Amino acid sequence: MLVIDRKEIGTHQASACGTLLGVMEALDAMDCVLQIHRRIVVTGPRGPIFYPLLHPFCTFDFEKFMRKLARRTDAEFLLAEVTGARGSVVQTTRGDFEADVFVDATGWGATLARQVSPRHVDKRAMSFGIETVQPYRGEGLLFWYDPVRYHPKLPIWIFPCGDESRIGVASYVGETKLKNELERFTRALGVGMDGLHGGYFFPYALREPTVGSIFVVDDAAGHCFGVTGEGIRGALYFGQAAGRIVRRVVDGEIALAQGLAEYRRFVQSHRIYFTLTYWIQKVFSNAPSPLADGILRFFNLPLVLPLVIRIYVAALNPAALRRLTNRGV
Ligand SMILES: Cc1cc2nc3c(=O)[nH]c(=O)nc-3n(C[C@H](O)[C@H](O)[C@H](O)COP(=O)(O)OP(=O)(O)OC[C@H]3O[C@@H](n4cnc5c(N)ncnc54)[C@H](O)[C@@H]3O)c2cc1C
Repeated sequence: MLVIDRKEIGTHQASACGTLLGVMEALDAMDCVLQIHRRIVVTGPRGPIFYPLLHPFCTFDFEKFMRKLARRTDAEFLLAEVTGARGSVVQTTRGDFEADVFVDATGWGATLARQVSPRHVDKRAMSFGIETVQPYRGEGLLFWYDPVRYHPKLPIWIFPCGDESRIGVASYVGETKLKNELERFTRALGVGMDGLHGGYFFPYALREPTVGSIFVVDDAAGHCFGVTGEGIRGALYFGQAAGRIVRRVVDGEIALAQGLAEYRRFVQSHRIYFTLTYWIQKVFSNAPSPLADGILRFFNLPLVLPLVIRIYVAALNPAALRRLTNRGV
């Protein structure tokens, strides 16, 4: 197995790195957790709404986590840019490599899948976000939806991680000039704007899980939920599923066509959750402010919140993640 990436493992942080604590437990990576969050707080025009979490979230150290996972594989790593593929050959800036199976995990740009199917990447079904890391302490995952003080279509968040916080702003409506909005927010908070990372797209609609004979995973396949923008759990969940199938293909247990069909079925069996979050994002980001506020309060009703959280967690259940063997750690 050869993993080709144009960046060193762990150096491409494109995220606030908030995920379910269960993910880190399942992968035996609790030492990467920076802070545990037992509630979400959304500050709206009528004050904060507190959502207690049955299943806690956490923020984690991206580089440490990525390096830990990398050390637990028997893959070789190659620092190179993939420029294309032809038949069983992948072309890179460090030469051509032949393989029986290809997995495209190149993020929203889907370098390989897009070559085979140019319409695979639909920029209309993508959100966009930027982030800065600042010395700021807090409790919980904090969001702002305040159409009076801030842009109603650009959600803002603070994800505390110990002594620092990842502070970001996203657009669900195709806006990519977000720096002014983030600046306005950080100034009001009394922190700076240096260390800006982004902007990055993240899809909110499921894409084809296979393209030609390529397995497509993570953002490349739209495995990021709408509205919450949570993509890391999907990347790990579907990445592991694809990996298990690819292993059986490589070992000659099943044919490539069978493996592709199996992976397709597996991803499609989760479609409902992506469709739901897609539509919630669509409705929420186009709703007039009173309706958006009503939606936020509806999700906090005592009978609704536990049910929604249960469904949201079970959609890509962290318990299904396999703890990798800890070879070199
Ligand atoms: C501002 C922001 C905040 C976010 N916050 C969260 C969050 O808190 N929690 C969460 O779960 N999700 C979050 N997300 C979404 C999450 O970041 C993505 O869903 C997730 O990173 C997708 O992982 P990926 O592996 O598909 O893509 P990436 O993390 O983008 O990885 C793709 C890899 O492919 C490499 N690559 C790309 N093209 C090539 C090429 N041609 N040749 C070689 N290598 C290539 C890149 O170098 C990179 O290492 C956030 C997104 C944004 C933009």
